[in-house]
Amino acid sequence: MKMPTVKYQRGDMVMGRWPGSNLYYEVKVLGLDAKSQLYTVIYKDGTELELKEQDIKSAAGFQSRSRSRSRSPSRRRSRSRSPARTTRRSSSRTAAAVAAAAITESAPSSRRDAKLKDSVEVRLSPLQQTKAAENNSNNKHEKKEENNTANEKSEAVAEAVPEKNQGRYNLRRRKDDGDFKSVEAKVEQLEEKEAKLAAATPPSTPLDFGGKIGAYFWLLFLPAWVLFLLLQVNLEDPSLANFPPPLPPLEAFWDVQALGFVILWILFQAVLYILPVGKLSEGMPLRSGERLKYRTNGFFAIVVSSVAVAAAMHKGFDLTYIHSHFLQLTAASFIISILLSTYLYVRSHYAAPEQLALGGSSGNVVYDFFKGHELNPRIKNFDLKFFCEMRPGLIGWCLINFAMALAEMKHQGLNAPSHSMILVNLFQLLYVVDGLWNEEAILTTMDLMHDGFGFMLAFGDLVWVPFTYTLQAYYLVSWPNPLSLPALGAIVTLKLVGFYIFRKSNSEKNAFRRNPSDTRLSHLRNIPTATGKSLLVSGWWGVVRHPNYLGDLLMALAWSLPCGFSHLLPWYYMIYFIILLVHRDSRDMSECRRKYGSAWDEYCRTVRYRIIPRVY
Ligand code: NDP
Repeated sequence: MKMPTVKYQRGDMVMGRWPGSNLYYEVKVLGLDAKSQLYTVIYKDGTELELKEQDIKSAAGFQSRSRSRSRSPSRRRSRSRSPARTTRRSSSRTAAAVAAAAITESAPSSRRDAKLKDSVEVRLSPLQQTKAAENNSNNKHEKKEENNTANEKSEAVAEAVPEKNQGRYNLRRRKDDGDFKSVEAKVEQLEEKEAKLAAATPPSTPLDFGGKIGAYFWLLFLPAWVLFLLLQVNLEDPSLANFPPPLPPLEAFWDVQALGFVILWILFQAVLYILPVGKLSEGMPLRSGERLKYRTNGFFAIVVSSVAVAAAMHKGFDLTYIHSHFLQLTAASFIISILLSTYLYVRSHYAAPEQLALGGSSGNVVYDFFKGHELNPRIKNFDLKFFCEMRPGLIGWCLINFAMALAEMKHQGLNAPSHSMILVNLFQLLYVVDGLWNEEAILTTMDLMHDGFGFMLAFGDLVWVPFTYTLQAYYLVSWPNPLSLPALGAIVTLKLVGFYIFRKSNSEKNAFRRNPSDTRLSHLRNIPTATGKSLLVSGWWGVVRHPNYLGDLLMALAWSLPCGFSHLLPWYYMIYFIILLVHRDSRDMSECRRKYGSAWDEYCRTVRYRIIPRVY
C-alpha cells in the first residue's frame, strides 16, 4: 500500500491561502492530520487553521508585499491624505481582520459585492500594467507606512504568483473619479465594519483550567477548599492528622447580621469608588481600539476606610466580631459572589462581541460562567471587575488582619499584638497599600487585560483573597509564635528585598506598556513584535522572565515565616501561591507565544532564565 507523502514538515514556513480568498499569508506548519490530510498552520497573528495541501504553497514562489499594496493605488492615495486614517490603519489589526476584508474583496457573492454591483463596474487588469505606476506614485508613502508599524511589515500579504494564463489582478476603476470616490467610501465603510466584526468576534482560544470538566471541578473544589481551611484552623489542633475537620450544622453558616455587614462594606467601598476623587486612568486598548477609563482612587479609599473603622470602634463596635463570625462572614461573601457571577453571566449575553473575553467564550455554560464571558462588565462608568479586584476584598483583607490582631490580644490577654502578628499585619498592609497606591499598574495585568469577569475572579476577589489570605493572622490568634530578634531582622530583610524586586519590575513593565517611548526608559532594549507592541529584553525583564513573580514569592515566604513551623496551615498561602504562579506563568507563556509568535521565541532565547520552572 502506498503511504501518503508529507509534503510540508512541522516548522516549515510556507504561504497559506486564507479560506475563501486568493490571498496568501506566511504561515508556520504545525502538523498534518493523517486521517483528514489537513495541515494545521499558524498565521503570524496566532490564528490557527487547517488547510488542504493545495492551499499551501512554498514561500519561494511568492513576492512579499505590504498589505497596503494589495489595494488599488487610488485607495492608497486617498488614505495617505488623511493623517487620522493613517494612524488608524497603522494600529494593529489581526490577520483575521485583514483576511475578513480580503474575503469580502474576493468572494463574488459577498455582501459587499451585492451592495456595490449596481454602482461600480470594475475590470480586471494584469498587475504588471499597474506596477510601475504604483511604484512611482506611492513608493514614498508606502515606505513611510512600512516604517511606521512593525505590524504592517510583518503581516505582509502576498498574492499568488500567476498561474498559467492567469495574471495577478487589481481592481481598477472604469467610471470617473467622483463616482469612484463615493463608492470607495462605501467600500471602506463596509470593509471597516467587516474587519471590526472579525476582530471583535472572539475566536475560540484553548480552554484553560482543565477545560469544561475542569470548570465543574473548580466550581465545587474552590468553595470546599475555603471551607476546609476555615474549619481546620478552628480546630484545637489544626494539624493535618486531624483531617477531615467535623462539619458544623448548616445553620452555623448563616447569620443575617454578617450578610448585612458584608453588603454594607461592599456598598461603602462602591460609594468611595464613584466619588470624583483621584485620577482617571486609561486602560490598555481593547480589541475594538477603545480605551476604557478607570477611577484610580484606591489609596484614598483605604485611608477613608481606616478613618471609618476607627470611628466605628470609637462608637463601641467590637471589631473582634470579625474573628468570632468568620465562617458566617465567609458564607455571606460566598453567596454574594455566586449572585454576582450569575448576574455577570446573564448580562454577558447582551454584550457586543468585541466586549467578550477571548478565554471565556467557549460556548459551554459552565466553563464560561466560571472563566468569565464578558471582559469589562460595566454599569455606566462603574467597572465591576476593576472595583472587585481592588476594593472590597483587598481593603477587607487589611480590615480582617487588623481584627485578628485585636482578637489575639483578647484571646492571649496581651496589651499589644505579638511580633509575629505585627509583621504579618504590616507586611500584608504594605502589599495592599502599594497595590492601591500604584493602582494604575493593575490595568496592564492579565486579570484586567485578558480574563473575563466570572465566578473565578468574583469568588477570588470577594471570598478567596479576604478569607484565605488572612489565614496567617487567623492562625496566630490561637497559635502565637515568639520570634527572636535575628529571626525578626532576617524576615524583615527578606520582605524588603522581595518588595523591591516586585515593585521595580512591575513599575518598569507598566511604564513601558503605557508609553514605550518614555525617555526614562530609553536605556532599555526591546524587540518589536507583529502586534505593534514590543518586548523588553533588558532591565528587570531582561534578567529573568517574570521578575515580578520572584519578588512576590519572596514576600510570600516572609508572610509565612512569622508563623513558625508547627503546622502546615499558615504555609498554605506559600504553597498555593507557587501553584498559582506556575499555572499563571504557563498560561501567560502560551498566550504570549500565541500573540507574539516568533518574537516571543526570540525573547525566550534572549532571556533564558525563568523564575517558574517549566513543569508542563
Ligand atoms: P504580569 O504583570 O507579569 O503580566 C504578564 C504580561 O506582561 C504578559 O502577558 C505580557 O502582556 C507582558 N509581558 C511579558 N513579558 C514582557 C516583556 N518582556 N516586556 C514587556 N511586557 C511583557 O502578570 P500577572 O498579571 O500574572 O502579575 C501581575 C503581578 O500581580 C505580579 O507581580 C504577580 O506576582 C501579582 N499577582 C499576585 C497574586 C496574588 O494573589 N497575590 C495573583 C496574581 C498575580 P502584554 O505583552 O500583552 O502587555
